[in-house]
Amino acid sequence: MSRTLSLSWSRAASHTGVSIALLAALALPGRFVHAQPAPPTAAATASIYKVEFAAPPDSVKPGTSVTSTGVAPYWLTKAERSGYRQTPSYDETIRFCRQLTAGSQNVRYLTYGVSGQGRELPLLVLSRDRAFTPAAAIATGKPIVLIQNGIHSGEIEGKDACLALARDILVTRTRERLLDSVIVLILPIFSVDAHERTGPWNRINQNGPESMGWRASPIGLNMNRDYMKVETPEMQALLSRVFTQWWPHLLVDNHTTNGADYQHDLTYSVNHGPVVPRPIERWMTHAVSERIIERTRAMGHLPAPYLSFKDGSDPRSGIVDSPSAPRFSTGYPPLHGRAAILTETHMLKPYANRVKATYDFMVAILEELNARPRELARAVAESEAEIVTRGREAVTSRRDVVLATTSTDSAESFPYRGVETRWETSPITGASVPHFGTAPWDTLVPLYQLQRPTVVVRQPAGYVVPQEWRAVREKLELHGVRVRRLTRAWTDSVEIAHILEAPSNPATFEGHRPLEVKRVQLERVRRSFRAGDLWVALDQPQGLVAMHLLEAQAPDGLLAWNYFDTIFQRKEYAEDYVMEPIAKRMMEADPALADSFRVRLIRDPAFAKDAGARTDFFYRRSPWADPEQDRHPIARALRRPPESVFAP
Ligand SMILES: [Zn+2]
Repeated sequence: MSRTLSLSWSRAASHTGVSIALLAALALPGRFVHAQPAPPTAAATASIYKVEFAAPPDSVKPGTSVTSTGVAPYWLTKAERSGYRQTPSYDETIRFCRQLTAGSQNVRYLTYGVSGQGRELPLLVLSRDRAFTPAAAIATGKPIVLIQNGIHSGEIEGKDACLALARDILVTRTRERLLDSVIVLILPIFSVDAHERTGPWNRINQNGPESMGWRASPIGLNMNRDYMKVETPEMQALLSRVFTQWWPHLLVDNHTTNGADYQHDLTYSVNHGPVVPRPIERWMTHAVSERIIERTRAMGHLPAPYLSFKDGSDPRSGIVDSPSAPRFSTGYPPLHGRAAILTETHMLKPYANRVKATYDFMVAILEELNARPRELARAVAESEAEIVTRGREAVTSRRDVVLATTSTDSAESFPYRGVETRWETSPITGASVPHFGTAPWDTLVPLYQLQRPTVVVRQPAGYVVPQEWRAVREKLELHGVRVRRLTRAWTDSVEIAHILEAPSNPATFEGHRPLEVKRVQLERVRRSFRAGDLWVALDQPQGLVAMHLLEAQAPDGLLAWNYFDTIFQRKEYAEDYVMEPIAKRMMEADPALADSFRVRLIRDPAFAKDAGARTDFFYRRSPWADPEQDRHPIARALRRPPESVFAP
């Protein structure tokens, strides 16, 4: 009880600066301390909390479409019928999907699992060949595109754009040619439960629709951080039942951005640099950043790379365009040798504009794929081959893999289309706050894209996963990584990562305290493995995903996501009076050890004052110490096991 109270005091005090005396009074036994102010009345809410956007709310006449022509009233989407003030609920969305299947032979409505709250997860498959199973779709040889909407359910224009586009391809057939050479999978809503937590107060920075969904899943997880650790039921279903079955060549993930005001209506991101297999990186550079973006500009939009400024909200500091880590929708598919595009429309633009920008961007993407369908398929095949070949590479220097990069100071210049901005010191924040006008402010700003490696790891021959780490097997299977079970014991020299420095994040992040593995030393040891342990070969298309899960320094590896935290916890301790005589004998027997202890006492005053650390100095160097402590449990094999250990 007292613990809880003192915690709430310190939190409240640090946030509000309210005096401790007042808080003490409020915290008297039997009283309830409100962390939040009481909710305002409806009238006060409307006048006090409403956000006025520079762009007026939509003035589109209800019943008209900003994307499509010749649509009969029966086929209008809810967004179109409402003049883009509203977006359909989950049930209304499913109904429209079913309406599409009744109106066309070239679409099928499928479900691929259930959400945390028990809702079916919807998937539309659009195929001219009526290839409605993964095997049939892959057999066509056409590129497969997965368009994902509502991973952040409040950012929902992707859904309204895709419902209109599917109708225009399938029913009004004004866009039917887009299906000539491509198979299109659409997730109308991915985070379905969060989509139904709808309300007008969910996204303060966003200009419409009137009511929108929520960012995180009902258990508080951001699904666009869940691609590697795969902890939400929705992501488990997506990876195991969609991604690793249909194997889409391209994932398009539609969002609405946050950030500054500017003229750009559409921003996008693709991964680049040495973390991405080269053939797919080349495709994303030429097909997306050049041709698709050019096509989108020709449609009247103002596209820009995702606008993350080096210095907060000041565009003059330059745009930092760095690749996303594998936990993100744009970081994950490239590990499979596949392409991914992040769409972020500008949240201050009215909803109709954002639906149109997303619709046109999807059209531009599909036009590019129809114009050069084999190019993407070839880039994926070559990327997979690059991964497999590296897994078999005998020359060790060619086995180096870049797991993470950082931006360099080298910049190109980018024609930024901003708006006139005035900075004013605010009595509220005590700092300067931008006030955006409407006059255009066109300028050149630095664009930082060039990357340099920060984590490079030499690929082992493969990994051996001891069977007792059961979560590892589950994750490998969810990601489609092929594993082989040892049927007999195997002993060999392997490399084990000794984790020397890995501070955990001081704050909770996605229900974890992720580790930043800073220093690792590979130790060569002889290990015995049992029947039932798992062999993970790296000459497979999922070899890069396996490395990103199993390497100690991988930024989104299972070690970073706390799956092996027990290795850091000490299990046995020496009493000081037990260790002390042993320490004396160790010093007598080993003068070098004695010297290093004395040097440490002089150079490290904190150590000198810490009796426990001094005892531990000797304990850790004695045979009593736990040899497994701080060691990554996944073994890096120096060679593949003989076939005999897999024999039935
Ligand atoms: Zn988002």
